[in-house]
Amino acid sequence: MHEIELKARAKINLTLDVISKRPDGYHNVEMVMQTINLYDHITIRKMRAPGIKLKTDLKWLPEDERNLAYKAAKLMVETYNIDQGILIELKKRIPVAAGLAGGSSDAAAVFVGLNILFNLNLSKNKLMNLGVKLGADIPYCILTGTALAQGIGEKLTKLPPMPFCYVVIAKPPISVSTAHVYRSLNVEEISFHPNTQEVIEGLQKGDLRHIARNLGNVLESVTIKEHPIIDNIKNTLVEYGALGALMSGSGPSVFGLFENHKDAQAAAKELRLHSKAKDIFVTTIFNRERV
Ligand code: ATP
Repeated sequence: MHEIELKARAKINLTLDVISKRPDGYHNVEMVMQTINLYDHITIRKMRAPGIKLKTDLKWLPEDERNLAYKAAKLMVETYNIDQGILIELKKRIPVAAGLAGGSSDAAAVFVGLNILFNLNLSKNKLMNLGVKLGADIPYCILTGTALAQGIGEKLTKLPPMPFCYVVIAKPPISVSTAHVYRSLNVEEISFHPNTQEVIEGLQKGDLRHIARNLGNVLESVTIKEHPIIDNIKNTLVEYGALGALMSGSGPSVFGLFENHKDAQAAAKELRLHSKAKDIFVTTIFNRERV
């Protein structure tokens, strides 16, 4: 095989709870994660000339070691002594720095892609153990589907697949630094914790409404205070028929869950016309396993 094409899919958080602050400055979290069908396109090609080359279609995205896709390739090349050259082409579709784990998912796709391209026969667990060296969300992006993430996000338990639904994603034109959001959060003062167990029960029963009623993200308390537009978008999504709406990760992306495609499209249209959000997508949840 000379070349491989992959879809690097985004994730949303059905829940995001912060349990405690760790001595190393990280936080212990509890999150129900779900993959969605919004993805970057990645092509990896074997090259004659040695070395790693990355090309992206986003002018301002770094194409060197600062890019997670490059970092993943470098780690694989060094760990498994790959001596052939590699060209990675990345077409970005997932909004950057949006709470959708776009960079982590690109890295995950590179781990999976190189494993196949060079017949390394590494297990998914092996890839996940390598992935966590670059970022806490990467093991989940290798696993994909519906999962509970604990620890700093790297301890994963598979959950029953989320029932099919449409997802509207809207990213307002603001930048949110994940580090700033976590720094601003006082764990002792969190007044509302999401009911993770209820969401898991909803998954076990295959009850979309039960899941949607119990969505929750403690980081909203920080990000919405600074950017009320996130709340406005949530309200519009619910007004237009979303069963539930929530900020994903540390934001600023917001998602709404819909049973009905027409409602999802109408909500997206309304946001395109009357909100400041520019990046708006109608997609679906994704549950098939990658590896
Ligand atoms: P998370 O949900 O895991 O916090 P995110 O969706 O908020 O992630 P990313 O899109 O992964 O954020 O980007 C975060 C930062 O990582 C950006 O500042 C960006 O410059 C850098 N980055 C490095 N590699 C990539 C990549 N392949 N795609 C997007 N961003 C990347």
